[in-house]
Amino acid sequence: MKNVLKNVSLAILLLNMCLVFGQEISAQKRILIDVGHGGKDGGAIGINKIQEKDIIMDIANAILKLNKELEKPLDIYLTRYKDTLISLSDRTKLAKVIKADVFISLHCNHSDNPNARGVEVYVANTLSQYSKEAAWLAFEFHTSFKRQLGFESRGVKFANFQVLRETIDFFPSVLLELGFLSNTDESKYYQNSENFVVMAKVFLECLNKNFKYYGRAWN
Ligand SMILES: [Zn+2]
Repeated sequence: MKNVLKNVSLAILLLNMCLVFGQEISAQKRILIDVGHGGKDGGAIGINKIQEKDIIMDIANAILKLNKELEKPLDIYLTRYKDTLISLSDRTKLAKVIKADVFISLHCNHSDNPNARGVEVYVANTLSQYSKEAAWLAFEFHTSFKRQLGFESRGVKFANFQVLRETIDFFPSVLLELGFLSNTDESKYYQNSENFVVMAKVFLECLNKNFKYYGRAWN
């Protein structure tokens, strides 16, 4: 019964995507942005009770909106468009079903230390033919978020996270921890809606820059 339920939820997820974007074939690179948490899983709770699931939904929506305004928009999909909980395995299955070129998981951080701050970018700690591209993309994000947005850098790190482990054999995948909601400055940053637009711009520039160099390798 559990299996049937799981498959039904993946089918609903796919159906949602078709309704949103249609099934047209695009020559552009296909990016799956994994919007972490959702539904009863709020993720980290920050200062002023802001929830990680809401912040990253707002970031993802800003990316979608800005992308549509580009001359050559990328083919971007999200793992969730609403406040719903999707299992980690369905998120990675979805990436394979839609034949993503890149998988990027969005999160925000939390610490008991209110001074902890900055951006961390994670790459799978197992080697695959896509490790190099994933590491380059991770460095690009990490450098741009520091230089252009002023976030402190906590570095590119290697980890055995499920969403990275289950994707790195198929395409480059990275997980972004976009600041600490437990830090006053960084949670305030997300209370200004204009910052979502700026972050979306930097995010799309990082992707485009990397495709220029690694586009062929990712085909
Ligand atoms: Zn998270």
